[in-house]
Amino acid sequence: MHFCGRASIHVALPLPLQGFAGSNCGCGTPQRPPTRGRRYPSAARLLLAVLTLAVFQMAAAVSALAVPKKKVSNAWSVQWQPAQLVNGAPVVFQIAPPARLTGLSAKWLEHDVFFDYDASSKTWYGIAGVSLETHPGIYLLELKGTTSSGNEISFTRKIAIRPARYPSIAVTVAKRFTEPSQEQLQQIHQDKSVKQDVFSHTTAEREWTGKFRAPVDAPVSDVFGTRRTFNGKVQSMHQGLDFAVPKGTPVLATNAGTVLLASPLYFEGNCVVLDHGQGLLTLYLHLSEIKVKAGERVQGGQEIGLSGGTGRATGPHLHLAVRWEGVYLNPATLLSLKLPEI
Ligand SMILES: [Zn+2]
Repeated sequence: MHFCGRASIHVALPLPLQGFAGSNCGCGTPQRPPTRGRRYPSAARLLLAVLTLAVFQMAAAVSALAVPKKKVSNAWSVQWQPAQLVNGAPVVFQIAPPARLTGLSAKWLEHDVFFDYDASSKTWYGIAGVSLETHPGIYLLELKGTTSSGNEISFTRKIAIRPARYPSIAVTVAKRFTEPSQEQLQQIHQDKSVKQDVFSHTTAEREWTGKFRAPVDAPVSDVFGTRRTFNGKVQSMHQGLDFAVPKGTPVLATNAGTVLLASPLYFEGNCVVLDHGQGLLTLYLHLSEIKVKAGERVQGGQEIGLSGGTGRATGPHLHLAVRWEGVYLNPATLLSLKLPEI
C-alpha cells in the first residue's frame, strides 16, 4: 500500500529574555544618591520588558485570529493494494478526496472503475485489475468526483506496473480437449455465446463486503499465470487458481454476490459464476454438483457446489477464476486484499 509521509510540526518558540534585566552596576562612574524615580531601575526595566512581551503576544494572538486556522486541503489521498502492481493483478483503489463527494469514478487502463464509500474510514473503495497483456510501465488513474455542491473535481495519479514472473508446465488431458470433434466444436461454440451473454450482464453496483475468502480449505496445486502446454500441442495461460481437493468437497462463495451462471460447460465442466459488483466476477469450475441457481443472491461463505473433475481437468480439483471487466486476474492476490465490511 502507498502511505503518505508523516508531516513534521515545527513550533516557533519565543526567544529567551536577554538584555532586558542587565546589571545596573555603573563601573567607573560615581554612584549617585538614589532618587525616588531611579530607586529600582532594574525592576522598572523588567516590568517594561514584560509589558512589551505581553503586547507582542496580544498582537500575535489578534493576527492569528484574523487568518483562518487551517486552509482547506486540496490534496487527494490515493492508495492501493497490493503495493506493487504487476500484470494479472487485481487492485483495490482507496481514495480519500479533498471534499465530500456524492459520487466518484475513474478511468484506468481504458476501463471504468466503480467506487463505493466507506463512511467509517471516509474512503472510497473501487476494485479494478491489470490484464496479463499489460506491459510494464507507468499508467494513469484518472479520478473524477462530484462534490455535494455539484462541482466536478478531478485528479490524476501515476502508477507503476511491473512485470510478473509466471511459471511454465506441460499438462496431459483427454484428446477430446486438444483435438475436439466437429460435434464437440459445436458445443464449444455454443458455450462461447453463453459465456459472452453471462459476462455482459455484470453490475457496477457493489455486492462484495469485507475480505474475499478461499472457497475451500486446501493447498494450491497450480497458480495463476502458468503457461501450460496441453498434450504437447495446445498452449494456454492458466487463468485461475487450482486447489487440490477430492471430489465432493463443499465449495463456498468467496464473497457476497449474485449467481450469474450455474450450468455445465464443455471445458469448464459444472460451473458457477458469481457477480460481486464493480465489474468483478468469481468462477468455480469442474464441480461435481451445483447447489445454486442463476439469479440467486449468495452470502460470502455460502455453499454453492461440490468439487469434482468435470470438463477439461486432469483430475478432481477446484479451479477458481477471477474476472474483472473481461480480464482474468490472479485469485491469490484478490484473497490477500484487505477490504472493509461496507
Ligand atoms: Zn485450473
